[in-house]
Amino acid sequence: MGKRILVTGGAGFIGSHLCKKLLEQNNEVICADNLFTGRKENVAGLLWHPGFKLVQHDVTKPFYLEVDQIYNLACPASPVHYQYDPIKTTKTSVLGALHLLGLAKKNKARILQASTSEVYGDPKVHPQPEGYYGNVNPIGPRACYDEGKRAAEALFFSYYQQHQVEIRILRIFNTYGPNMRMDDGRVVSNFIVQALQDKDITIYGDGMQTRSFCYVSDLVEGMVSLMEQGGLGLAGPFNIGNPSEITMAGLAERILGLTGSSSKVVHQKLPADDPIKRKPDISRIKEAIGWEPKVSLEQGLGETIAYFKKELKL
Ligand code: NAD
Ligand code: UDP
Repeated sequence: MGKRILVTGGAGFIGSHLCKKLLEQNNEVICADNLFTGRKENVAGLLWHPGFKLVQHDVTKPFYLEVDQIYNLACPASPVHYQYDPIKTTKTSVLGALHLLGLAKKNKARILQASTSEVYGDPKVHPQPEGYYGNVNPIGPRACYDEGKRAAEALFFSYYQQHQVEIRILRIFNTYGPNMRMDDGRVVSNFIVQALQDKDITIYGDGMQTRSFCYVSDLVEGMVSLMEQGGLGLAGPFNIGNPSEITMAGLAERILGLTGSSSKVVHQKLPADDPIKRKPDISRIKEAIGWEPKVSLEQGLGETIAYFKKELKL
């Protein structure tokens, strides 16, 4: 018999893959999403499933239902989208965490928080281990997201310590794959869509800043595996991501090669507070549950390019 699982933000990029995987494992899935950045199309292939329910709901409002597990993914993740309404972004993280932790406590349900590498800000320690407290500008353009996620982590830990709620905190590093929006604004979707349309590839700054990209199937496997194991002992926080690091100029070159595009590279202004380096230290999650990524950047980009080609009808 499967579990009854609530996935907030389930119609988004990562959430849609997670809902699919949980259904494949015979669980009942309630996907709650306000469809701000998520899309019905992402879960269109699941709507027929008797175990799947899409509910239009905003996590800044309370939610009551009976569940065994909760995955809290509700929050815009692209800088373009989370900076569109910064107050709403912080409310989503903070009020969302409060409402869902209350629900978890009432149901004695295990709850996972989709936290982020952004809790490290523009890191002064490289690669980033979980013990690093970070370097976040509390009043910069990314603060609504970074501080919202940091406050959510604090709330998760308080519910764990005060009420013994079984929490899981995952600090997700840059993840990519099919079901990202074409207008998402994040680097992988931007570069691929630009390359496929022979438009200019927009590198912000000199392109020497780094990120480490994880393919979505690896991430989802780690999320589910962490929720399936242990009891109170796996609260985390755990970094999750692919430690193979690349510069944005290197990524542009890779995508140009894989698409065979004739786009040219142009440089645009680097956004304020853009982290210079980012790479996860994943030893903690590896030791705790044996998770490590399997999909190479080449393979993952190949799948993602194929997805966008279909979206663009090429
Ligand atoms: P996404 O924007 O595709 O998905 C977010 C989903 O949350 C969308 O479906 C959106 O409609 C929904 N949402 C936003 N505000 C909401 C609200 N108030 N109430 C209900 N639903 C709301 O982004 P994603 O990449 O799929 O990210 C999913 C989660 O993972 C986010 O919490 C994000 O912070 C976290 N994360 C993602 C990455 C990444 O690289 N993709 C990295 C770190 C953390
Ligand atoms: N970036 C870029 N061109 C784009 C979009 C993003 O050079 O068209 C850069 C951005 O400045 C950052 C990196 O790519 O250094 C990753 O950006 P993204 O928005 O994907 O994620 P985040 O900054 O949150 O890691």
